[in-house]
Amino acid sequence: MTTESVCVVLPAYNEKSSVLDLVPEVLNVLESCEVQPCVCVVDDGSSDGTIDQLVALRQTEPRLVVVQLSRNFGHQAALLAGLASVSADAVIMMDSDGQHPATALPAMIASWRDGFDVVNTIPEAVPGKGSGRRIWGHLFYWVFRFLSGLAIPEGTSDFRLLSRKAHEATLDAAGKRPFLRGTTSWIGLDQSCVLYTANERSHGTTTYTFRKLLRLARDGIVGFSNRPLLIVAMLGTVWSIVVGGYAAISIGLELSNGRDVPGWASMVAILSTMQGLLFVMVGLLGAYIGSLHNEVADRPPYVIQRLLSAGDKH
Ligand code: UDP
Ligand code: MG
Repeated sequence: MTTESVCVVLPAYNEKSSVLDLVPEVLNVLESCEVQPCVCVVDDGSSDGTIDQLVALRQTEPRLVVVQLSRNFGHQAALLAGLASVSADAVIMMDSDGQHPATALPAMIASWRDGFDVVNTIPEAVPGKGSGRRIWGHLFYWVFRFLSGLAIPEGTSDFRLLSRKAHEATLDAAGKRPFLRGTTSWIGLDQSCVLYTANERSHGTTTYTFRKLLRLARDGIVGFSNRPLLIVAMLGTVWSIVVGGYAAISIGLELSNGRDVPGWASMVAILSTMQGLLFVMVGLLGAYIGSLHNEVADRPPYVIQRLLSAGDKH
C-alpha cells in the first residue's frame, strides 16, 4: 500500500490554456511513481477566468487543491501561498506554463527517496530565453553567490522538491519578501540536483519583465547579505584615505615652497566620485530600510480569498 504523499504546487497567472491540461498530466505521473498524489494550483489574481475553470475541474477531481489569492501578488508570493496551504511527505514547486516538464518528476522523487531533502533542478537549455536574459542570469548568480556565500546552483529555477522537513524550514524562513531559491539553499539539509530539458512556454510570453527580474534580484541580495553595505563602506574609506593623502601633499607643497598646486580637474574628479559613492550608499541604505520596513509592518506576502481543499465542494 502507498503511504508517501507528494503534492505539486503550481502558481498560475493567466495560465488558463496550460494549467488545465497540466493538472491531470501531473496527477498521472505522480500515480506512476506510486505515491498519493495531490496538485495545488494557486491562482495569482488571473484575469483570464483561470479560477472558474479550476473550480469546475475540482468538482470531478478531489485531489486538486485550489488557492485563490485576492489579487496578483507575484510568482514568489503565490508559490509561498501554495506551500503554506498543503501538507505532504514531499512538496514540489513547479511552473504552470508548461516549461517545467512533468516527465522530470520521477527523477526528483527518486532522489528524495534516496534521502535528499531538497532536490533542485537545472535546465539543460531554456528555449525562448534570449542571450540578454542568459547573461543577466549568469551575472546574477555570480553576484548572489559572492555576496551571500550561499552555494545556489547556477541556472536553478523554482522547480524543486522539498521533503517535509525542508518544507517546514522553508515556511519558517521565507520572510515577507520571499526569494525561495535563496531560502531553500539557506536552510541547508541534504541537497541534490537533477537535470531536465525545459520546454517552450505553451502559450503567451514570460511575465518576468526586466523590472520584475531586478526586483527579484534586489529581494534576493538584500534578503540574504549585508555585504553590499560593507563593500561600499570599505570603498568610501579607501577613497577618503586616497583623497586625504592627495590633499595633504597639495597643502604640504604649497606651504613648503609656496608652489601653487593646479587642481581644477582633480577637484572635479574627486568631488564627482565622492558624490557618486554617496548616492550609491544612500540607495543601498534605502533598499535595506525598505526591506526592514516590510518586516516591521508585518503584512503577509499574500492574502487568500478562497481555499478549496479536501472535503470542500465550492
Ligand atoms: N506567475 C505567478 N504570478 C505572477 C507571475 C507569474 O503566479 O505574477 C507564475 C506563472 O503563471 C508561471 C510561473 O509563475 O507559472 C513563472 O512565470 P513565467 O513563466 O512568466 O516566468 P519565467 O518562466 O519566464 O521565468
Ligand atoms: Mg515560464
